[in-house]
Amino acid sequence: MRRALVVIIVIVIAGLMLLGRIYYALDPASSAAFPRCAFLTLTGYKCPGCGSQRAIHALLNGDVAAAFGYNAMLFISVPWVALCLFAETQRVRNPRLYARLHPSILIWLFLALILAWWLLRNIFNW
Ligand SMILES: [Zn+2]
Repeated sequence: MRRALVVIIVIVIAGLMLLGRIYYALDPASSAAFPRCAFLTLTGYKCPGCGSQRAIHALLNGDVAAAFGYNAMLFISVPWVALCLFAETQRVRNPRLYARLHPSILIWLFLALILAWWLLRNIFNW
């Protein structure tokens, strides 16, 4: 069981490293290798994740300002997701810490933030 978990973790890390290398080397704005946003294509409106691929490319190449311009919500999401993943690792071992790091009010607040971001970026063309 433990060996299977280690294999899964190694595969996930290797996959993330490969993705990081691809996003570092290829610019999603000019490469046809990356998928276009289906929501934007179908509706003409940006989804909350629009610009994330370009933002990741900019971040990996050290251009923080451009990354923020492509998708500011990504900057809020990454620390939040990292905190949630850390909380998940502590769920069984330390349930009190999990409860402190993972209160339901923060989940609802984050969902409201995403919805507000989605609405505002289409109103103000962010
Ligand atoms: Zn999109």
